[in-house]
Amino acid sequence: MRILILGPQGSGKGTQAKRIAEAYDVPHVATGDILRAAVADGSELGGQVRPILERGDLVPDDLMVGLIRERLAEEDGFVLDGFPRTMAQAEALDSMLEDIGKPLDAVILLQVSDEVATGRLRARAAAEGRADDSPEAIRNRLRLYHELTELVVDRYALAGIEVIVDGEQTMDDVFAAIQDALEGVAAGR
Ligand code: AMP
Repeated sequence: MRILILGPQGSGKGTQAKRIAEAYDVPHVATGDILRAAVADGSELGGQVRPILERGDLVPDDLMVGLIRERLAEEDGFVLDGFPRTMAQAEALDSMLEDIGKPLDAVILLQVSDEVATGRLRARAAAEGRADDSPEAIRNRLRLYHELTELVVDRYALAGIEVIVDGEQTMDDVFAAIQDALEGVAAGR
């Protein structure tokens, strides 16, 4: 299975992507995790992206596309979390997958209001102290989601492969709805 999971920060994407990865035995490819690991390692890439992550800005498209190209070349199936965030990234992903003849099976959109997303991110800031969970960075990340990533959401909706899931339900109910959607895809519904 090749699955994309979309939704604003705080929609529960990471949590649900992990559950999908486990249930469908596919790797969880999370660009935010890859970038945070690079920062923690103190690598050259980490040094380059650290201030961008702290502000809640987006890492340049060409850098992200290069990272994903390398990572996906190794995998047959995946659940991709945090990418694509811009139209340029979505176009690059689609052409990458087309080149290798492995299209996406499903795109899951976790829908939550800005109020719920902000509340969850603030709670996570208190619990984990992530550098990009400062109030300014949270506002910036949600703004960029609406400005740029929602175009990606529209792109996959138009392609007819997107399933909308209410992300404000309990974690278990969200996962049940995702499983339902993925079973529909597998059954060709
Ligand atoms: P996340 O954990 O997905 O919320 O990502 C954390 C941060 O990593 C984001 O706020 C961006 O700074 C950066 N990032 C992750 N994925 C991407 C992407 N596809 N394009 C640009 N920046 C990204």
